[in-house]
Amino acid sequence: MNYHSMSAAELGVTRDELTDLYEKLRAAGLSLDLTRGKPAPDQLDLSTPILSLPGDDFRDPDGTDCRNYGGLTGLPGLRRIFGELLAVPADQLVAANNSSLEIMYDLTVAALLHGTPDSDGPWSRQTVKFLCPSPGYDRHFAICEKLGIEMVMVDMLPTGPDVEQCAALTAADDSIKGMWLVPMYSNPTGATVTEDVLRSLLTMPAAPDFRIYWDNAYAVHTLTGEFHEPLPILQWAAEAGNPNRPYVFGSTSKITFAGAGVAFLGASADNVAWHQQNQSVSTIGPDKLNQLRHLQFFGDADGVRAHMLKHQELLAPKFALVARILDERLSASKVASWTDPDGGYFVSLDVLDGTAARVIELAKDAGIALTAAGSAFPYKQDPNDRNIRIAPTFPSLSDLETAIDGVATCVLLAAADSLLA
Ligand code: PLP
Repeated sequence: MNYHSMSAAELGVTRDELTDLYEKLRAAGLSLDLTRGKPAPDQLDLSTPILSLPGDDFRDPDGTDCRNYGGLTGLPGLRRIFGELLAVPADQLVAANNSSLEIMYDLTVAALLHGTPDSDGPWSRQTVKFLCPSPGYDRHFAICEKLGIEMVMVDMLPTGPDVEQCAALTAADDSIKGMWLVPMYSNPTGATVTEDVLRSLLTMPAAPDFRIYWDNAYAVHTLTGEFHEPLPILQWAAEAGNPNRPYVFGSTSKITFAGAGVAFLGASADNVAWHQQNQSVSTIGPDKLNQLRHLQFFGDADGVRAHMLKHQELLAPKFALVARILDERLSASKVASWTDPDGGYFVSLDVLDGTAARVIELAKDAGIALTAAGSAFPYKQDPNDRNIRIAPTFPSLSDLETAIDGVATCVLLAAADSLLA
C-alpha cells in the first residue's frame, strides 16, 4: 500500500509489522555483502584459459618478442581490437598495464605538474575544478579529493549529464578543467549518454585545456545480449574543433581478470604524444606478455563480444532477481525507485529522502553490507540522503535473494519511521 496515503494509525501498524520482520532478519545472523562491484568467481572462470597463454608463443603477429622491454604504445593487434570496441582509431589508442583508473590518475597528476598541451602552465598554479555528474563513480571523486581538485556536482540524467548545467558552468569559469563521465551503463545509474548530449559536451564553450574523462569501462558489458555502437567521441571532438577535449578509457578488468587485465587510453594524436612523453620517464614499456595473452585469447572484436555474452548469461539472472524482489517488496509503497539497467554492474536505489543513511545502518546491523551512504557523490555528501548503490554481481543467487529482500525490509522500516516522525 502507498505509504504516503496511509493514516498515522495504519502506518503505525505497518511499522510494527516491519519491526517484527526486521528483528527476525537480525536474528538470522547474516553476513552478506552488496558493496563489491566485482566479477563473481564463475565469471572469472570464463577466462581461465588465459592463464596458460602465451606459452612458448611469445611473439605477437608483428614478430615482436613480448618478453623484452619496449613498445610503449602496446601491441598493435590488441589496439585494433579495442579500438573497434571503444570507437578509437587504433593508432590513437594506447594499450597499457592493468588499470585504467591509474591512467586517469597519472594524466591528472601530469596536468597538475606540467599542464596539458593546451594549458598556460601547470594546473597546480591555480584553482582547478572538475564537473562531477552524480550519482557517479566514487573512485573518480576520490582522485579529485586526493589531488585537491574542487568538485562541482552536476546532475546525471538518464541521457547523461545535464548539459545545460555543464555548459553554463564551463562557459563562466575557466578553472573548470575536467569532467568525469561513464558514458555507457554508467556507474551506478546505468545511464547511457545520447548522441545529442555528447555533441553538446564537445561543442560547449570551455577552457582550452578542459578535458572530458570518457571512462567507457562498461562498453561491452551488456545485460540484454545486444551491443550498442560506441559513440565516436574523438572523431566528433575533432569535427567540433576541440580535438584534445576527450580522453577515452577502457579496460578488460571486468572482461577477463579484475586487476590483471589490460587498460587502454584513447585520445588525439597530440594528447597521446604528450602522455607517451610523460610515461616514457616512468616506464620502459607495458606488460606485453599480458597483452599478448589477451590478443591470443580473443582473436578479434567478435571474440570479445562472444565472451561478454557468456558474462551476460551469468549476470542477467542476478539483475532480474534484484528487479523482481524490489518490485514485489517496494513498488506499492511508493517510497523508493530503482534502475533496471541494460548493462554494467550496478543497480541504483533511491529511497525516501533523508533515509538512505538509516537504511544502510539498519542493513549493517542485520549483517548486510551496503556501500557507505553518499558514496556516489562528491565529498560523500548525498544532498538528499537518498541514494544507495547495489552491486549484485559478486554474491551467489541465493545470497543475493536473501540480501535484497533484507534491504527491502530496511527501506520500508526506515520510510515508515521517517513518515511517522
Ligand atoms: N571505471 C569505472 C567506471 C569502474 O566502475 C571501474 C571499476 O569498478 C574502473 C574504472 C576501474 O577500472 P580499472 O580496473 O581498469 O582500473
